[in-house]
Amino acid sequence: MTTVDRSPYWSDIVSRLDPYVPGEQPRDQQYIKLNTNESPYPPAPGVARVLAEFDSDALRRYPDPESRALVDALAAYHGLAREQVFVGNGSDEVLAHAFHAFFQQTEPLLFPDISYSFYPVYCGLYRIDYVTVPLDDNFEIVFADYRRANGGIILPNPNAPTGIALAQSAIRELLADNPESVVIVDEAYVDFGAETSVPLIEEFANLLVVQTFSKSRNLAGLRLGCALGQAPLIEGLKRIKNSFNSYPVNQLTSAIGIAALADDAYFRDCRDRIVVSRARVGKALDQLGFEVLSSHANFVFARHRERDAGDINRALREAGILVRYFDKPRINGFLRISIGSEDECDTLLAALAQILA
Ligand code: PMP
Repeated sequence: MTTVDRSPYWSDIVSRLDPYVPGEQPRDQQYIKLNTNESPYPPAPGVARVLAEFDSDALRRYPDPESRALVDALAAYHGLAREQVFVGNGSDEVLAHAFHAFFQQTEPLLFPDISYSFYPVYCGLYRIDYVTVPLDDNFEIVFADYRRANGGIILPNPNAPTGIALAQSAIRELLADNPESVVIVDEAYVDFGAETSVPLIEEFANLLVVQTFSKSRNLAGLRLGCALGQAPLIEGLKRIKNSFNSYPVNQLTSAIGIAALADDAYFRDCRDRIVVSRARVGKALDQLGFEVLSSHANFVFARHRERDAGDINRALREAGILVRYFDKPRINGFLRISIGSEDECDTLLAALAQILA
């Protein structure tokens, strides 16, 4: 791969960007993919029906710029009004718009030092000043450090890549402590056992909850995410979106999103399987000599008590298994392992037993 790192044609900001690097999506060899927290299960059966019955002629027209049908389905699902729901092309796009809309303040934005690595990238893109707040030695958030954050706060709940969840009561305190600024709770993994902050929306005008169809709805390839909050915040997002791309969600994506939301039984079944496998994998990893952080997500974050994480990562890759390794201070002893199907978990554990033997 050739990497061009400068050009006289680039504007100043392009030269200074430090873009996000997503987990590998291999094009060649078949791997067991436990590196990007995708679901091992297919989307709800209704999704295949939408695809089979979709009238391609509909694609002649632009989609509804307001994605009204999808927004209404999400509003009904969460018990919110239509004006309290925003949709976009993956929650990454929704987050980017939210950074643009709410965090360009005179005071710095706050987020944990160990968190989703896209946050500092958005800050670079939108020239947002930020300060990272260290998690404690148990990788827990220290709430006192977030008081009076006048430039805003963003936290994933559960946190990524640790998987550690926050109680709704803790988020409530954070919101009450910071009435002057927007607090975003990034709930990409909330369905795997954490408490959602959606019920706090009615009470707190400064809360924005961001969710995705990529993980618990088994639709990472679709690119669909949403933000939930009081109408003025949602209107702020719409102003950004309508100054950027009128149609981020196409007809097919919208219909698929509605079908996925409609099948709650299937959603719960897939989620429950992940939760059961997560407990099994956690226990087995512990027996293999790993310290495993308590996860409420569809992945575990684990550190071997003796062996080097980079070495284990390479050996797994040679065995045809991809996991995520972050060569960063504080977490370079850990591997983040997505919970796969039961067979994939078995293969992972057998490979680890061999590597560590
Ligand atoms: N937030 C967090 C914490 C994530 O880990 C991810 C997935 N990489 C996202 C948001 C974005 O997910 P998507 O764009 O697929 O909705």
